[in-house]
Amino acid sequence: MLLILSPLTGEGQGEGSRLTHPMQQPEYCSACGGKLNPQASGPARCSGCGRLAYLDPKLAAAAIIPYRDGIVLVRRAIEPAYGKWSFPSGYVNRGEKVESAVEREVLEETGLHIKARWLVGLYSSAGQQVVLSVYHAEVSSGELAARDEALDTGSFGPDKLPELAFDHDARIIADWQRQLRRQR
Ligand SMILES: [Zn+2]
Repeated sequence: MLLILSPLTGEGQGEGSRLTHPMQQPEYCSACGGKLNPQASGPARCSGCGRLAYLDPKLAAAAIIPYRDGIVLVRRAIEPAYGKWSFPSGYVNRGEKVESAVEREVLEETGLHIKARWLVGLYSSAGQQVVLSVYHAEVSSGELAARDEALDTGSFGPDKLPELAFDHDARIIADWQRQLRRQR
């Protein structure tokens, strides 16, 4: 499963809903089956038992993967941002180690076996349901080839990037480069 519902775009501009697949909101109470009434702010309240329906955020993981003088990007075959380039990424399953999730997603999308080495950053925005973790990763084996939910894949120099899907992709790359420099 690929993600990339840009958890990061739309911050402060009231445009958040265009980027994320609207995540399914429950209509009925998990305790009593009563109808949930949305409130002006905060969680919906059950019309039957009065419980509040608290919803968890959703965790996604992406990888920055140095490969042949560049970093690996995939061209999205799904909305939002169909046809644009972004980092390989996906949702973390419940019970799954985050590093394992990113390694699995990268293999599914690009054919590369990678190792997630260190956390570049954790990215969230007010009003967004998705929290994105980004890892620096290293290729252990495999050949780069577009697979699931990718139209294309390639390796691009940080100064020769194609148009990226999401507003904050550039910030993620800048964070990554700053940490790389610090390690040298
Ligand atoms: Zn209820």
